[in-house]
Amino acid sequence: MRLKNKTVLITGAGSGIGKCTALLFAKEGANVVVNDINEENGDGTVKEIKNQNGTAIFIKADVTKPESVSEMVENALNEFEQIDVLFNNAGISGVGKLHEIEPTDWERVVNVNIKGVYLPSKYVLPTMMERQQGSIINMSSCIAEIGLAQRASYSATKGAVLALTKSMQVDYARYNIRVNALLPGTIMTPFVKKYLKESYENPEEAIEKIKSRQLSGDLGLPEDVANAALFLASDESKFMMGSPLYIDGGATFG
Ligand code: NAD
Repeated sequence: MRLKNKTVLITGAGSGIGKCTALLFAKEGANVVVNDINEENGDGTVKEIKNQNGTAIFIKADVTKPESVSEMVENALNEFEQIDVLFNNAGISGVGKLHEIEPTDWERVVNVNIKGVYLPSKYVLPTMMERQQGSIINMSSCIAEIGLAQRASYSATKGAVLALTKSMQVDYARYNIRVNALLPGTIMTPFVKKYLKESYENPEEAIEKIKSRQLSGDLGLPEDVANAALFLASDESKFMMGSPLYIDGGATFG
């Protein structure tokens, strides 16, 4: 088991990539702290982990609210005494050209996607620094590196997460803490289904277009990203520091 005796905290683990990663990490022996803003979905992830004889608790918290995040980290430490891996996964979509985006929508995307990385990291880092070990995985996207139409707010946030990852790595390397970023391409999750529905009259046609843009000729699955997250969480990636890890079927280079 690759995560035996480790505790991982995954934000936004009630759905999609976060949920899939929580199930995989639990199978690999980790104690999993499942976070989400959606209680029903978060509870559902914990139930599935318990059904596969894993260990997990759900902590409801909004990753954009300091008190909520600080309390979540405190509760996680009370339960498991340590946090070895933090996966800053929670994120929301943002659609539209810059001049069409309302300030409140811009702020919502920026808050969840950037503040939602800043706050959990802020409250988890002191315990990792004290123990002189830790792996932080930040969810960016291949959109950080390629221009896509109608994604102004979303691409701005994912580019920021990549820059933040590198800056964090420089500051915390001396504490033996690794900080890396995942850059997925299009992965079929509820998030993408919502985006396709909001953005295209014919989502099926849009899927075929996206597929044709990828070198792989297909979309990714949550498992593809979860496996990459497992590598970054485990000691197998001990020489990776501040790295972007692409899981995009070649979208970035295609
Ligand atoms: P998803 O919508 O299935 O899951 C996201 C989860 O985050 C949801 O359960 C949601 O309730 C939770 N969440 C939202 N706001 C929150 C908040 N304020 N506090 C706590 N939890 C909150 O989406 P997904 O596709 O699994 O995406 C997960 C991450 O991967 C996101 O950061 C997304 O930007 C990124 N990503 C996804 C894709 C893709 O194609 N699906 C590609 C690149 C990057």
